[in-house]
Amino acid sequence: MGPMEEKVESLFRVDRVVQPTAETKAAAYIQDYEAAYKKSIADPEAFWSTVAKELEWFTPWQRVLEWNYPWAKWFVGATCNISYNCLDRQVKTWRKNKVAVIWVGEQGEERIFTYGELFRQVCRCANALKALGLRKGDRVTIYLPKIPEQIVAMLACARLGVIHSVVYSGFSAPALESRIQDAESRVVITADVGYDRGKVINLKSVVDQAVANCRSVERVVVVRREPSSPALSAPKELDWHDWLDKEKAVCAAEPLDAEAPLYILYTSGTTGKPKGVVHVHGGYMVGTYITTKYVFDLKEEDVYFCVADPGWVTGHSYIVYGPLLNGATILTAEGKPDYPNPGRWWHLIERYGVSIFYTTPTGIRLLMRYGEEWPKKYDLSTLRVLGTVGEPINPEAWEWYHRVTGGTKPIMDTWWQTETGMIMVTPLPCVPLKPGSATRPFLGVEADVVDRAGKSLPANAGGFAVITKPWPAMMRTIYKDPDRYQVYWNTIPNCYTAGDVCRKDEDGYLWFMGRADDVIKVAGNRIGTAEVESALVSHPAVAEAAVIGKPHKTAGEAIKAFVILKQGQQESQDLIKSMKDQVLKELGKIAVPQEIEVVSSLPKTRSGKIMRRVLKAKELGQDPGDISTLEE
Ligand code: ATP
Ligand code: MG
Repeated sequence: MGPMEEKVESLFRVDRVVQPTAETKAAAYIQDYEAAYKKSIADPEAFWSTVAKELEWFTPWQRVLEWNYPWAKWFVGATCNISYNCLDRQVKTWRKNKVAVIWVGEQGEERIFTYGELFRQVCRCANALKALGLRKGDRVTIYLPKIPEQIVAMLACARLGVIHSVVYSGFSAPALESRIQDAESRVVITADVGYDRGKVINLKSVVDQAVANCRSVERVVVVRREPSSPALSAPKELDWHDWLDKEKAVCAAEPLDAEAPLYILYTSGTTGKPKGVVHVHGGYMVGTYITTKYVFDLKEEDVYFCVADPGWVTGHSYIVYGPLLNGATILTAEGKPDYPNPGRWWHLIERYGVSIFYTTPTGIRLLMRYGEEWPKKYDLSTLRVLGTVGEPINPEAWEWYHRVTGGTKPIMDTWWQTETGMIMVTPLPCVPLKPGSATRPFLGVEADVVDRAGKSLPANAGGFAVITKPWPAMMRTIYKDPDRYQVYWNTIPNCYTAGDVCRKDEDGYLWFMGRADDVIKVAGNRIGTAEVESALVSHPAVAEAAVIGKPHKTAGEAIKAFVILKQGQQESQDLIKSMKDQVLKELGKIAVPQEIEVVSSLPKTRSGKIMRRVLKAKELGQDPGDISTLEE
């Protein structure tokens, strides 16, 4: 985390409030957020233990929380297993034959798993892992494209108490190697190929390169998708289907301590070297379960579609664990939002009658570029609740998303991080919305905006976003780096520092303004990146924008903006001038970029986040640091 001075200027104001419809409110689990929130934070341990009792535990806890600042243990003394709660708990009921996962491949192939079938596949895989001698505490790296085997492998590891480390399949060999080395995985599960906009990506050769120097790796299991793929070399390499087919479809879930590690997952690497975040079975299960249920108001008959990849935390918490813990029907689709055309997601929503749709601001801005005629072609009337995550959503994108989906569906702008494990700041469907604000803390969560000393700031003053109390799904450590873990809790006294800047308005709504590391210092003012970018994107010609600070002789720093134009727009001096005017009008003089450069793409992480540090390093001719997560 960079130097953190006092305050961050907030220049941005939106007056629009979108009330929930009577229908949305009447249907919701939580109809009065204020009352529910007040009650939850009056006694958070009581709140969390009531939630935990909706799940199954092999033995009960003696204490809800043991808090040795900054180390937390939740549900102390209990034993449980998250895989058991995702599967066994469902197959014991009528949900045995309910659809758990609908998977759609890039070429339109479809595979459907009921809870019963998913349970059997997971048991087979768990037995196969056992047969290789894998035991509780061992690590397995999962480097798979977005195919159902990814979900099966995760749940199979969890079933045995084996710790999974899922690595997104877009990573290069050196990035994969360092993640395998860090985890010292005994097994790597991969596929021969992945597909990207019709192109065949040879994943196996990436793995071959990566494991060549990994002494911990005993076996490589390969899901073969192309009949023409090269044969595997026994005994080290195993074919997934051969490996599973001979195994029994029953495998008891290991009773694990609530604090047993479930997985290691590396952060996106947007602001620096990725951190290996560790989550555990018990608390993570409770946090992801209840946020999925309340934020999306998830009901038995919903079809839930989250566009993330299980390679990122959103996929872990809100494709796999949270929805399965709720017995949901999950749609997951391989491929990009604009392939084979920009109607891809809308088509899937119509085709499968999706009622809950969870996506990213980057995804929305990408589709905005192609115009409203794409969503207009499809029947989106089944949609009920919408979500976004990953970056601040600018009001322009929010309004577009709201409009093209019918103009009445609530948008849950969910703020959280790999480290938090679960959604932390978010509306619930009953909460009045302000476009661009992630609104209020989730039940049981206490969030604030503070200065460097930890002092709460007055309404509308920008400062550091912090969480002031432990929560069950919080990371327990950074793998092999406990000191790095402590930094989160020791940077600002008595709270968890998220590393984001934020303001809280007079209604207690939180407005995230970007990363503390990216704050720009112009003539004594500290400005968050999100507000300037949002102002630029509100210009009708601009599709996307990123801003950085450049050293300036008199002002300290000057703002430089990089913008992508919408389809059909031409760069000109007048256009640049009108962009500057737009920022002037929206935010005022101090936020106007001194320089605006039109570009055709922006450096992003593979999860779609803009990497401003890469732009800055390039602009200043400096070393960009760890760029393993940069998308080519
Ligand atoms: P690294 O920590 O390695 O730099 P990262 O922070 O991008 O990477 P993630 O855990 O994937 O890794 O992302 C969490 C961050 O994403 C948050 O700290 C915040 O900056 C941003 N974010 C996520 N959701 C929202 C949201 N709804 N509004 C604003 N920002 C968001
Ligand atoms: Mg981060």
